[in-house]
Amino acid sequence: MTTSAQQLRGELNDMDRQIARLLQGRFDILDRLRGEGAAASSYDPSEEARAVDAVLRETNGSRDAEAVRRVFGEVFRASAERSEAGPGLRVRRAPGQPGSVYEVRGHRIGDAPQLIAGPCSIESYEQTRAVGERLHSLGVRFLRGGAYKPRTSPYAFQGLKEEGLKIMRQVTDELGMVAVTEILDPRDLERIDRHADVFQVGTRNMFNYDLLRLLGETRKPVLLKRGLMATLEELILAAEYIAERGNEQIILCERGVRSFEKWTRNTLDLAAVPLLLARTPFPVVVDVAHATGRKDIMVPLARAALAAGAAAVMVESHPNPALALSDNEQQMDLEEIGRFVEAVFAP
Ligand code: PEP
Ligand code: MN
Repeated sequence: MTTSAQQLRGELNDMDRQIARLLQGRFDILDRLRGEGAAASSYDPSEEARAVDAVLRETNGSRDAEAVRRVFGEVFRASAERSEAGPGLRVRRAPGQPGSVYEVRGHRIGDAPQLIAGPCSIESYEQTRAVGERLHSLGVRFLRGGAYKPRTSPYAFQGLKEEGLKIMRQVTDELGMVAVTEILDPRDLERIDRHADVFQVGTRNMFNYDLLRLLGETRKPVLLKRGLMATLEELILAAEYIAERGNEQIILCERGVRSFEKWTRNTLDLAAVPLLLARTPFPVVVDVAHATGRKDIMVPLARAALAAGAAAVMVESHPNPALALSDNEQQMDLEEIGRFVEAVFAP
């Protein structure tokens, strides 16, 4: 290259840096605008489009008008996308922010892969203790089990309620495990808070914003399941309802979404794992039991979930699944759960 060509090349590089800095500054201003009184009042995309149009009119007639228009189109699109992603969100993962790790009763979730397992429903002390003991011997420390059950039919078993909570607490205390249980109704908050370590919000309640706000006022981790018809953005915004009230101990759970497919109970969306991890700092759990409703494909899906970055897998187990009061098809007996743990977690 001649000296003057080198000089011109250098000028171009400088200009590129200036453009990059200007774009960054432009995004920062948009963030600040949105931060002022949340979106609607101060950030108006149509106003921004008009402003960009005005700039473009100045280039009209110039040789490069079309190229400038294309570039500004991209700038505008990037700005609009940024606004949808919600830069002001508390649950948004900042660049370089490490993933959240929570310690519950001395057990950590968010770093080494965990299994959250237990019966679908707490049915008796004996049943819960048998599953807990077996899981504990397999190295599992997070015991799940429903005391308040969201059943499709109002005539199906609805859970042992407070009695179930007490059983859950007793068994987890005896074994040194973490109690994970679902809350359906804000009126049960205090009762559940007395006995549980992690609140689970089920798929049917992901859109129950009053419940989410209430959990935002507690100081225990919330395992928030994806609604069965919810987009990932809706799941993230549901998490924001919790975080906005001050509780940022959130665990997101992919448990399958409803689709046309009939061979599985739901359709497991594994893309959710890396997408949620990229956008939020929260650990992601994959519930392969409710996602599939069948035991024969849980091992490969659990492996895939962990490979995709899941902090934990969730499954269900019962001493006698055929007699279980809920979800018979997907609960593993005490032999099956041993084989499952071996296949998924053995080094
Ligand atoms: C559960 O985990 O017990 C449960 C009811 O799951 P989901 O809300 O995902 O259906
Ligand atoms: Mn279940």
